[in-house]
Amino acid sequence: MNDNYRAMNFSAGPSILPEEVLKKCDAEMLNYEGSGESVMEMSHRSPEFKKICKDAETNLRTLMNIPEDYYVLFLQGGGTLQFSMIPINLMTGSGKADYVVAGQWGKKAYDEAVKFGDVRKIASSEDKTYSYIPKFNKEDIRDDVDYVYVCYNNTIYGTHYNEYPDVGDHLLVTDMSSSILSEEIDVSKFGLIFAGAQKNIAPAGLTIVIVRKDLIGKAPENTPVYLDYEMHAKKDSMYNTPPCWSIYVAGEVFKYLISNGGIKAMHEKNVRKAEKLYDYIDSSDMFIGTAAKEDRSLMNVTFVTGDPDLDKKFVSEAKSKGMINLSGHRSVGGMRASLYNALPEEYVDALIEFMKEFESVNIRK
Ligand SMILES: *Cc1c(COP(=O)(O)O)cnc(C)c1O
Repeated sequence: MNDNYRAMNFSAGPSILPEEVLKKCDAEMLNYEGSGESVMEMSHRSPEFKKICKDAETNLRTLMNIPEDYYVLFLQGGGTLQFSMIPINLMTGSGKADYVVAGQWGKKAYDEAVKFGDVRKIASSEDKTYSYIPKFNKEDIRDDVDYVYVCYNNTIYGTHYNEYPDVGDHLLVTDMSSSILSEEIDVSKFGLIFAGAQKNIAPAGLTIVIVRKDLIGKAPENTPVYLDYEMHAKKDSMYNTPPCWSIYVAGEVFKYLISNGGIKAMHEKNVRKAEKLYDYIDSSDMFIGTAAKEDRSLMNVTFVTGDPDLDKKFVSEAKSKGMINLSGHRSVGGMRASLYNALPEEYVDALIEFMKEFESVNIRK
């Protein structure tokens, strides 16, 4: 196998990154812009790294059109730590929050929040293995909740909010780990947006939190310092050593997105990629999409043949053709093709070609 071999990587996360960005990181690996050191070896207090961090924030603000009255924080601890930090920092008025549970990540967020206050589930799609986005009326929300929580894109089940959830005047908090930067979002509709970087941004280790400035600074006195958003905001995400390498790669991804037409162009490409795969699945006599059509995700396309052995055969034959990481989440089985920004359209074409071939050879007569 040749040293430069790159498989077609459909992983749900950590996942594919733009090849152009990887090559740039490679070229700068030993000597970042004449500094004589790698970003991995650099002090996070150095002027070089401070610029990397500042530029990453500025470019993310440009890409997502983040209003001035929001902080952008570069944290560690993954999406999972946000499940705790959100209630600790924001459930500090009435001490109540309402949660929508549309998948395992939302369930985990809910289970964590319960430890910190009066938390209620206002909708769940657990009855049908989270295959749809459960509806709620804004009247179902308790008047005095501190926030309403939703997971915007359910990575495991392939569902996504295809319109903004209507929470009336309530504060909306969301997990966008697997859809951030894939579509244009009006940040001002949310009090807080967070995303683990390892799906659509950068390597694991970085979690981005975008939070309205007036919402923080209310954590209880005994809050562990790392868990207080205010400390990170005051110190420009440099209270302690930040995930330097991941911030650097994220910054390179932001530059790459800006020079490739921004989120609008990405979204158009993402729609094209997902639609052709869904169209094929819908026309197929073998493959069945598992997510409700109106709630389908552009990022994670989930499907089955209906026969677990055939699913396994599909995943293993796809791998032998260079298409890797196509098995569904270990909890649901079947297949999942994650089509993040960095995944080239040709890979989707190749996948569809292979699915057609697989169907013609294996279809039960
Ligand atoms: C992957 C994922 C998480 C978990 O992130 P960690 O960084 O592993 O803690 C949370 N939410 C969503 C939507 C995810 O896809």
